[in-house]
Amino acid sequence: MEPDAGPDAEPLLFSARCAVCGLSGPAGPDAGATSRWMLAHLRSRPGHVSFREIITRPYRAVPDECR
Ligand SMILES: [Zn+2]
Repeated sequence: MEPDAGPDAEPLLFSARCAVCGLSGPAGPDAGATSRWMLAHLRSRPGHVSFREIITRPYRAVPDECR
């Protein structure tokens, strides 16, 4: 198994979830958008200071004889 970085791979996606209320931000390819969502969430809910970053990374099985 290895991360799939091929041209037909599913996209690498970043998202974040508030660890206080469970609200999740949108998933997308821009990791910076995750930080912006966390800051915006913190501004609107000042007590919510703990988050989880969620990374969806595609993997592909590679047979040994193909390496
Ligand atoms: Zn929250």
